[in-house]
Formats: sequence, structure tokens, C-alpha cells
Amino acid sequence: MALPEHRSTPTDTLGRRLHDLRLSVTDRCNFRCTYCMPKEVFGRDHAFLPKSDILTFEELLRLSRLFVGLGVEKIRVTGGEPLLRRDLPKLIEMLAGIDGLKDLTLTTNGSALAALAKPLRDAGLKRLTVSVDALDETIFRAMNDVDFPLARVLEGIDAAHDAGFGPIKINMVVKRGVNEHQIVPMVKRFSGPHYILRFIEFMDVGTSNGWRLEDMVPAADIVALIRREIPLAELPANYAGEVARRFRHADGGGEIGVISSVTQPFCQSCTRARIAADGQFYTCLFAATGHDLRALLRGGLSDEAIAKAIAALWRVRDDRYSELRSDATLALPKAEMSRLGG
Ligand code: SAM
Ligand code: SF4
Ligand code: SF4
Repeated sequence: MALPEHRSTPTDTLGRRLHDLRLSVTDRCNFRCTYCMPKEVFGRDHAFLPKSDILTFEELLRLSRLFVGLGVEKIRVTGGEPLLRRDLPKLIEMLAGIDGLKDLTLTTNGSALAALAKPLRDAGLKRLTVSVDALDETIFRAMNDVDFPLARVLEGIDAAHDAGFGPIKINMVVKRGVNEHQIVPMVKRFSGPHYILRFIEFMDVGTSNGWRLEDMVPAADIVALIRREIPLAELPANYAGEVARRFRHADGGGEIGVISSVTQPFCQSCTRARIAADGQFYTCLFAATGHDLRALLRGGLSDEAIAKAIAALWRVRDDRYSELRSDATLALPKAEMSRLGG
């Protein structure tokens, strides 16, 4: 029997189906990573979203269910810093219970993970990504720009292992002249079966991080730099459209990957939807504006009407910012990543 229109998976103008959902649960963060929330812009007087604008757990659950009904199989909880959201394990438990959801994961800066890893695991979180940009204390503190100690994040990662997470993904954003000489130490530290290390090209998300092409280290250079010291064997993609190029240490010591969003864009296979903490629905990481799903949720619309609206927005999606990146696109207005969900 054919599914009613609002229950079947929509496909956009480039033939990309809706498959992943990134759910931002807060626009706040206790770090001021220079590439994401530079403190000159996100200072004391920065206007974060008021509580009343932020989706409640019930609203997040309702939207998530509707997206799963439209074909989403994977939800990544993010932010801002998601662990700052009060009672987060409760939300995880609610999302973990969604029928048809195959994967539930979360990206965090790890600062509060030591206390929360076990409650999150017990609540049903399946996988975890922790961002770590350096193993050198001075560089780590300079990149988070709030003098946060590396040891607390490493304790969080240990706590996550103890709680049963594994392998844990580690994200490292590489910025030229800042942390590129941390690449090889990171490969050595996060080797073995317990970790999957991902190097991410510095991206021109938002308009406040002062992005310049020359500050971005291309993924190919990252791989070449590692290969000078550590032999790597390339791995086949796990699935069509996987964004990371994957390698394993030739001696069998674990997996690394590079995400070349700038040098080798993967828009053609981009199946990600994003919901900001205030319920704005973004169809691209580089979009300037979203679509207000909160107004639909709070306006008394039925599930069917909201699902139909989401499907209609996905069907007209034509985003491919990274493929079109140029001096001209750099000047376009874009929402901040901390707002729309990294
Ligand atoms: N606060 C959490 C964290 O840092 O893991 C989750 C949100 S953060 C926006 C999600 C991911 O985006 C992090 O791994 C972060 O390093 C990455 N990110 C932020 N700004 C970036 C940029 N300009 N270029 C590339 N990656 C970036
Ligand atoms: Fe916060 Fe994550 Fe952005 Fe760093 S990357 S400022 S930890 S939201
Ligand atoms: Fe997807 Fe937009 Fe990134 Fe392209 S630029 S991969 S469409 S989020």
C-alpha cells in the first residue's frame, strides 16, 4: 500500500532524500572556539535565545517523530554545546524511544562529559562525537579561548568509554598556523579500536569567524602530512555518499578520516536537515535563514499538516553552497553554526 504523501520520504530538486536530522538543543556554549564563536562577537552582551523561544523537549520529540516519519533514520543532537541543556538525558531517553529511528548520536566539546557520559548512555544514546583540536595544553586552551583544561575533556572521553560508548569519534578542526602540527600527535594518541579520528577542514560557516581560504589546510595535505610518519591504507566508503574519506593505520591501529567540505564538496549526496534550538528548519549549513517550524508547532497545526509543510520545504531544496563557494558566496549572509547546529 502506498504511504500517504506526508509519510513518504521526500526528495529534493537534486534527487537527494531526507535522511539525517541535526537537532540543536541550545545556541549557548561555554567555549569560544575561535573558528565558531569568537569572543569578540559572542561577548558578555551577546543576545542568546530567550528560554521561551527554545523548543521544549515535547516539541523536539514531536518534530523528531515527524522527521522520522518522513524518512530520517539518524538524529544527531548538537548545539551550541548540547550538554549545557538542562536534563539532556531525559530528552535522549525520549528520542531513543522513537519507532523507526536507527541511530541516535551527539556531538559535544566534552567539557561536561565526565559527569554526563553514563546518564546519557543509560538514556539510550548510541554513539558519541567529542571535539578535540589539540593535545598541547596551550594550543587547546587558545582554541577554546576560555582557558578550558584539556585534562577535563580527556576525563570525559575516558568516562564515555567506561559507560560503554565505542568507538568514540573525535573531531579536530585544522587551522593553518594554529594546530596543524598537532595532527600527527592526535593520530598517535587516538589510535586503536576505541577511536575514529576525523579531521575537518576549517569552513566559512557564519560570518563572524574571519574565515580566509589560506587558513584552511586541505584534506589532501592533512593525509600527506600523516603519511610522512604513519603509513595509511585507504578504506572503502561505508555507504554511498559518506562524507569522510577513510583510512586505517597500515599496521591495523585504528581509523582516521578527513572531511573535505571545502576542497571536495559533497553537496550531491547531502541528505541533512537541521533544526535550530528555536525551531528554525535549515536545509543547508550555509543558509542565511530557516523556516519557522516553531510557529507551526505552537500554532495548533496537526502532525499531518506540519509533516506536509516539512516535506514541501524539502522538495524545493536546491542548496549546494560548498559546490558554488567563491568570493561572491563568502559575502553572503549566513546563520552562525552555533545557532543552526553543527
Ligand atoms: N559544541 C559541540 C562541539 O564543539 O562538538 C557541538 C557543536 S559544534 C558547532 C559541532 C562541530 O562543528 C564541532 O566538531 C566543531 O569543531 C565544528 N565546527 C565549528 N565551527 C567550524 C568551522 N568553522 N569549520 C569546521 N568545523 C567547525
Ligand atoms: Fe562551542 Fe562547539 Fe562552537 Fe566550540 S565548536 S564554540 S565548543 S559550539
Ligand atoms: Fe549540504 Fe549545504 Fe554542506 Fe552542500 S553546503 S554539503 S548542501 S550543508
